[in-house]
Amino acid sequence: MNTVNSQKAFQEAQSLIPGGVNSPVRAFKSVGGTPIFITEGEGAHLKDVDGNKYVDFVQSWGPLIFGHRDESIEAAVIEAVKHGLSFGAPTQAESELAKLVVSFFDSIDKVRFVSSGTEAVMSAIRLARGFTGRDDIVKFTGCYHGHSDALLVEAGSGAATFGNPSSPGVPADFTKHTLLAEYNNIESVKKCFADSSDIACVIIEPIAGNMGLVPADKEFLHELKKLCVENGALLIFDEVMSGFRASINGAESITGVTPDIVTLGKVIGGGMPVGAFGARAEIMAMLSPEGPVYQAGTLSGNPVAMAAGLAALSKLKQNARVMAVLESRGKRLVEGMQKEASACGITMQIDTRGSMFGFFFNEKPVKNFADACNSDAALFAKFHSLMLDAGFYFACSLYETGFISTAITDAMIEDAISASAKIFKEIANG
Ligand SMILES: *Cc1c(COP(=O)(O)O)cnc(C)c1O
Repeated sequence: MNTVNSQKAFQEAQSLIPGGVNSPVRAFKSVGGTPIFITEGEGAHLKDVDGNKYVDFVQSWGPLIFGHRDESIEAAVIEAVKHGLSFGAPTQAESELAKLVVSFFDSIDKVRFVSSGTEAVMSAIRLARGFTGRDDIVKFTGCYHGHSDALLVEAGSGAATFGNPSSPGVPADFTKHTLLAEYNNIESVKKCFADSSDIACVIIEPIAGNMGLVPADKEFLHELKKLCVENGALLIFDEVMSGFRASINGAESITGVTPDIVTLGKVIGGGMPVGAFGARAEIMAMLSPEGPVYQAGTLSGNPVAMAAGLAALSKLKQNARVMAVLESRGKRLVEGMQKEASACGITMQIDTRGSMFGFFFNEKPVKNFADACNSDAALFAKFHSLMLDAGFYFACSLYETGFISTAITDAMIEDAISASAKIFKEIANG
């Protein structure tokens, strides 16, 4: 595969932008090689600056559930642009999108729009603290909730301890209220509640997608909810990734566990920068200007972004059955690849939730971040690079989830499986 122009573009970018990228995971660091510079997307495909074409299983890291350049989203955006890019004043489109979000989520009476998932989560945490009058929060190792200070904490060990910041620039003082627990391990959460009587909320990706795809066990979520209720803490489902991906009605519809606050992003903006957080009216009433918890944004509810989100979510509402089709394609993909890998003596762990799919090169099932870290990173890097050469664009890290869009056909899935078969043989033969 010729990537001369991508290499040149990357070199120039590195002289101007730290690491050449505006979000670190794009840099291909964990798989080696040069990131592919994109010129355009069309349906299921990405095209790069060297004229290569790839079937896109990343979809801008989740938002593009209808693929690139979906006709109705594109038309809605162009129409909105003609009326002005931003007003800093309310528009009816915001209520229209809010109505849709409320209709999808039983747990949400009211919603506020922001411009990213990071902002949504950061604001939801403030709201939970304001509502409960408490300071501590519990998060799970391996869950990603955006890059705000208090949430940028990983685990040093499996035990629940007060968190240490995992990035320079985050004062330890800012993360001392962040307690860590282990995913799918209720005892570790109990320990947090034993250690602190000041827990405002527990935040979790109910279907974790940022340590690879690792869904929480239903039983675990039920017990988590119970613990929150018993201790007067709020439960926040961070569905920035899983929202409208795992199910159009949220993880609550799959698990039967009702969160107090839900955070959304990615698909909700149809490819434009939109995040949101919602809850029952009693909680949302705490938010400024109705209540005292401050939160604001110059471009929040931006009319062009709202138009894209409205088009995407309306289309989902009208085509709810599409979720089952996407899931069956994702299943076929990972089951097909697993079978080919197995024939070459390579063990793969696989899972799907709606249009999300995940796989690990791992001998054992993956239930938490420590398990995910035991996966074969070198094998993943090889697989990633060879699949890219074969025209299949997978996320450039083993800790990411893959996505199926409606533009990806059964034939493309079969092609990807065939390509993987060749690649596993090549890898097995050294
Ligand atoms: C992507 C993501 C975020 C952060 O969203 P941004 O729009 O990148 O700021 C937060 N939480 C989860 C679960 C995510 O997947």
